[in-house]
Amino acid sequence: MTLSNLGTIKIRGKARDWGTPNTCTIIFKQGKWYASITVSCEPKRKTDKEACGLDFGTHHALAFDDGTVIDNPRFLKKSQDKSNKTAKKSRKKRAGKKGVKGSRRWKKAIRKVGKIQSKVGRQRQNWHHQVSTQIVSCYSLVATEKLNLKGMTKKAKKGSQRKRQKTGLNRSILDVGIGNLKSLIKSKVAEAGGFYVEVPTRKVKPSQTCPNCGHQKKKTLAQRQHNCEKCHYSCDRDVASAQVCLNWARGQELSSVDAESSSSTLCGSMRQLGAKKRQKRLSQRSG
Ligand SMILES: [Zn+2]
Repeated sequence: MTLSNLGTIKIRGKARDWGTPNTCTIIFKQGKWYASITVSCEPKRKTDKEACGLDFGTHHALAFDDGTVIDNPRFLKKSQDKSNKTAKKSRKKRAGKKGVKGSRRWKKAIRKVGKIQSKVGRQRQNWHHQVSTQIVSCYSLVATEKLNLKGMTKKAKKGSQRKRQKTGLNRSILDVGIGNLKSLIKSKVAEAGGFYVEVPTRKVKPSQTCPNCGHQKKKTLAQRQHNCEKCHYSCDRDVASAQVCLNWARGQELSSVDAESSSSTLCGSMRQLGAKKRQKRLSQRSG
């Protein structure tokens, strides 16, 4: 496509369902130009009749009720390491608070870190899209735990022995970008006309319940395995949690689930969200 004053930029990929273009936004980010075009269309997505339970990232990025686990792709970790290294190396003169100018080298290093980080972001986004598309193409009912990211990534208490462990866990939770992945799955399930069921965590306690007999016992963070002391059922802890989610969803009347997860209500809430954001922006501009 051709843009005035900028020249031509390549169009990458193609839309699954093309329609009438609505808006085109041109963005300049980390030394690169992007054009984002939105199209109004009727999204079509194929899905299968299977149901699955999903658990998001304590030890694995994703765990399915059938025992499949998906770990974070290694390239993310690699670029992360690279970015950290570059950030550490840049012990150049930093820009301070009181009008201290950063050295040219420092500025250069900062730009480099930003570049790598935005690449990690793009890689992650791409991975999220692939994973969520794959899941929705196989399952029309996805049951998962309602995530409380704020609570999950809370800092460990001061002086707690598990502080380092918790910090590491927080980093890995934030690193997977679960929130983003979840919302992608949710919207794609809705597009396909399937069901997305969120299990009330406090009521069901997927991470503490045995999927086989229902016996509840707390696990510590270090326990990666679910071992039931009652029925001796044993499997990966994330897989066990995914199974509990699916069991709960299966036990619910689908009609009651329908109300909160059908695509029509989802679209409604999305629209409300958009309206809210717009309002906020307007008030900021006028204020
Ligand atoms: Zn059991």
